[in-house]
Amino acid sequence: MGRIRVLSDNVANKIAAGEVVERPASVVKEMLENSLDAGAREIRIETEGGGRRLIRVADDGSGMMRDDALLAFERHATSKLSNVDELESIATLGFRGEALPSIASVSRLTLETRSDEEATGTRVVIQGGRLQNCEEMAMHRGTAITVRDLFFNVPARKKFLRSEQTELAHIASLVTHYSLAHPDKAFCLMHASKQLLDVTPVGSLKERVFQVFGSEALEELIELRERTATLEGREYCLSGFISRPQVQKTNRNSIFLFVNRRLIRDRVLMHALSSAYHNLMPPSAYPFALLFLDCDPAEVDVNVHPSKTEVRFRHSSFVHDLVRDSMREQLVESRPVPSAPAPVTPMAQPAARLPFSEFSQRVEDFRFDEARNVLPGPPAISSGLTPPPMPLQRFDFTRGEPIPLNPSASEEAAPLRLRVPDTHGGFSEGLDLNAPQAMTELADLRVLGQIYDSFIIAAGRDGLWIIDQHVAHERVLFERVLSAMSSGRVEQQRLLLPIVLQLTPAQQVEFERIASDLEAAGFEVEPFGHRTVAVKAAPAGLPQGELERAVLEILEIAENELRRVSVDDLRRGIAASVACRAAIKINTRLEPDKMDWLIRELARTSCPMSCPHGRPVVLRYSTREILRSFHRI
Ligand code: ADP
Ligand code: MG
Repeated sequence: MGRIRVLSDNVANKIAAGEVVERPASVVKEMLENSLDAGAREIRIETEGGGRRLIRVADDGSGMMRDDALLAFERHATSKLSNVDELESIATLGFRGEALPSIASVSRLTLETRSDEEATGTRVVIQGGRLQNCEEMAMHRGTAITVRDLFFNVPARKKFLRSEQTELAHIASLVTHYSLAHPDKAFCLMHASKQLLDVTPVGSLKERVFQVFGSEALEELIELRERTATLEGREYCLSGFISRPQVQKTNRNSIFLFVNRRLIRDRVLMHALSSAYHNLMPPSAYPFALLFLDCDPAEVDVNVHPSKTEVRFRHSSFVHDLVRDSMREQLVESRPVPSAPAPVTPMAQPAARLPFSEFSQRVEDFRFDEARNVLPGPPAISSGLTPPPMPLQRFDFTRGEPIPLNPSASEEAAPLRLRVPDTHGGFSEGLDLNAPQAMTELADLRVLGQIYDSFIIAAGRDGLWIIDQHVAHERVLFERVLSAMSSGRVEQQRLLLPIVLQLTPAQQVEFERIASDLEAAGFEVEPFGHRTVAVKAAPAGLPQGELERAVLEILEIAENELRRVSVDDLRRGIAASVACRAAIKINTRLEPDKMDWLIRELARTSCPMSCPHGRPVVLRYSTREILRSFHRI
């Protein structure tokens, strides 16, 4: 007798469960997708014990007929696909017919369902994959699936479940984001008897974002203009919300990518996203993003992984560039300024505030304790789904020359006069805090002085500004170098004596690869014997002492960029490196004239609010915050 045996369905289901059901949130995901596929308009999710003890998903969708209710638990039983050709154009979220049998094999499951075609509903009870009971019952059209004691019969997997809070946070995040993908449907998420999310159908994504995250968060987000692009007659459409660059998260947990309304993970899209924020945000930080890419189902293969979270694009570089460019365009346009953190009035739904993981919870707790009773510091990095506690009053810097708010405001000598309200009286005249905030353009700032020989303090109509002199100058130089590079008019300085650099083999390879880019940036570097090069000229303004570091740094960037491909990124990297090395250092005393000059130059840049490496250039303490801190309002 041979040794090969066909696995029983029960065993095969448990194996499949290993791929499809990782944790309670995966159960919720599969059931949510089924409800959406069934055309539900209202979905209610109840959980206990972080979903480990109980998950119940009820919908008002099409429901199932009695025979189907039983068939649904057979392996590869699906109503969504009947032949291989349809795989090409799959429009439903499910299609593999694996989820229900997998979930049923590792839990105690009850299915209650009724379709319009039948007068009564059906209840099916299954435990550890074994059918216990099937009976008629009275109920409305729709489906309710209750999953108890997940992994009760697979102790090895149960051990890997995390704390109740963590598992719940995953569920909350998932439901929240499916609710964002479907603003026209109602979602309700309960844990024990606590309501974490409750949203009614609305007409737009914006309204849904408002329902879920509240008004404060909406201010920190940029709504992407819907962008359509066509390739070979097939249309792609991108929409969504992304955070302004100063909203910085410590991990990727706030990035949600949907392809054809299916929540996915994808490296191409992730890369496009990070390139869009390149130079606007430090590489170690992550934005909040809610991206919806809709395209012809034939353009994307979703059958790459059992949990259908990975996809493959037919034209991945087209998709990459579409996403990067649409985002980048609007990010640069928005050019915000960070302001000092102050407490927020939370308006978000509890689910939106739940931390995504224990780690982010720790960061969150830490911030909270630290921030209390302490003078506002620079915007700290926040994490999790919660937008960071920075009520950012926005500045829309006009392109190029700043436009004065009103003609008289532009007069140089106009003193920044503010009548501070006395504690009892309120305002008799002077600043009306209810009027739209008077916003200062950078060029209107009045320099008050310098602290620590590193930061410029300036007064604006709208508050107190602190400018990091190094990063400000870096931003100015960065744009200058970049535009000189692209127009081929780089200023060069010849060195009296060439500087000879010894390279490692890897650096040697990089050097040869990017020699022409170095030249375009104003470097004249020639091979000089075995793994040595001689630098004979450099971009003007780059101090001699910084030359060696700059060249080596550029080689290092090139090495990293190799893995990322874009020539554009390399050029920006070179410009950033030159700018950083040539910029005014911190701990350098500046004369008032020089500070004035720097601020005017900064105002002329296209993106004055963050340095080429993504650090903030400017902090602002708004008048309102100052008054509030002194209990004057
Ligand atoms: P798939 O979604 O890949 O088809 P599942 O195992 O998730 O596979 O579900 C099996 C079948 O059960 C589905 O094809 C569908 O016909 C039916 N089904 C599951 N959940 C629901 C629901 N909430 N409402 C109506 N039908 C459902
Ligand atoms: Mg399914």
